[in-house]
Amino acid sequence: MVGFEVADKWVVLKFGGTSVAGRPQWQAIASLAKDRRSEGFRVLLVCSAVAGVTNQLNALASEPGSSHLRESLIDTHRELSRELGVAESDWLAESETRLRLCLECLSDVSGPKNQAALLAMGEYLSTRIGCCFLRQSLDADWVDVKEALEVVQEPGRSAARQWLSASCKAAEAPALARRWSALAPVLVTQGFVAKTSTGETALLGRGGSDTSAALLAGRLSAQRLEIWTDVPGLFSADPRLIGDARLLYQVDYAEALEMAASGARVVHPRSIRAAAETATPVEIRDLNHPGLEGTRIGAGAAAAQGVKTVTCQERMAVILLQ
Ligand code: ASP
Ligand code: MG
Repeated sequence: MVGFEVADKWVVLKFGGTSVAGRPQWQAIASLAKDRRSEGFRVLLVCSAVAGVTNQLNALASEPGSSHLRESLIDTHRELSRELGVAESDWLAESETRLRLCLECLSDVSGPKNQAALLAMGEYLSTRIGCCFLRQSLDADWVDVKEALEVVQEPGRSAARQWLSASCKAAEAPALARRWSALAPVLVTQGFVAKTSTGETALLGRGGSDTSAALLAGRLSAQRLEIWTDVPGLFSADPRLIGDARLLYQVDYAEALEMAASGARVVHPRSIRAAAETATPVEIRDLNHPGLEGTRIGAGAAAAQGVKTVTCQERMAVILLQ
């Protein structure tokens, strides 16, 4: 039909540090991307840095001259690329150049702006290498998340917060969706990272990849956000402490937010807030058991009466009632 454009159906899948750490995980990511393609979706994969890498980069930020820290960071990624059968020539030289520039800037002036650029290297490396692996079996492109997420200036916030724990708008961005729809049907991008109004690198705070994924789902008007992690979902209590804790199949945004804010560390509270803002349904799923249903978070989920969750903050119990 002339003049009629069917908008692409997007789904956003987010993978945390342990979910991008080795070959079995990347095989699971590839197979999920294929499944979503066969369901008719355009797929955006939002990835964290490999587990432990942001901490390594933090150490390097305080000691930019340490060749030991630099080499161990590169070795972690050499190991990953070897496991994935990815050629070093596809990522190593450009990554080393980037890393060197970040470290030189930090040696000249240490400050939150240069620290942000260095910490963003973790997500850059995991997505560069991961995308090469996906391309062995999928039509996939790497995209720079700075094309999609720009931080909002918040007057009165300290420089450290503006650079290292910034906020972005979740609002729909049809021009972005059109631009990305012209690329490969599976896209890989970085969590945690955004750009400032002058195009420099800012971060969304530790654990910020969940938030990135929710913001991106909102910007692409995605049909849903799937957060793939290493636990089956949200529980009525911490299953490590309480033997008969129940997996919650359905909670609403307010309940999920309450749980995230009161000690259940499965998903970042800012991510729930961003998803609620654009009414994006969220699923928490376990990458080690992809057949399990997980927890669905959405508006007005079916309510059961009684105590929904018991969590623990410091030495205080938090009980969420229905
Ligand atoms: N890599 C970042 C961190 O370790 C962001 C994330 O994993 O969510 O905090
Ligand atoms: Mg996390």
